[in-house]
Amino acid sequence: MGGFPKEGLWLRSRQERSPVSERDQAETDLANRGAQLLGLLTERRGRLAAQIRRALAERREESQMRDAPGSHGWGAAPEGNISLAMVAQQQQQLAQIDTAIQRHQAGTYGRCVGCGDEIPLPRLQALPFAQRCAGCQEEWEAEKR
Ligand SMILES: [Zn+2]
Repeated sequence: MGGFPKEGLWLRSRQERSPVSERDQAETDLANRGAQLLGLLTERRGRLAAQIRRALAERREESQMRDAPGSHGWGAAPEGNISLAMVAQQQQQLAQIDTAIQRHQAGTYGRCVGCGDEIPLPRLQALPFAQRCAGCQEEWEAEKR
């Protein structure tokens, strides 16, 4: 025996233990959940910002090394395109996290911008910057098409 329980298990057992019927408990949970999610957001933001900085620094080094006539650094190599797309994606995610942190400060975080309902905690834990519940997200993406 031994070892630490997997994170997923821990989350699931925590959820089961929080009774929705008790209002005081629910309010405490809401405050806890806010703090917990803000922590998640801040942590993810820091990690992403570091990743972007590192990727951009690597790109700069690479393009300096490849600074030969006829080579145009950015986008010259296929693998370069991939990491460039990744950085763009990370920057987009960083912007989403910033929006989520702003919404947290405004007190609107965790509410679906579509229907106004609370976004379920497991969804926020998986996607801390989600602005919509799963249903509204689906509808929204269907409309975009
Ligand atoms: Zn919704």
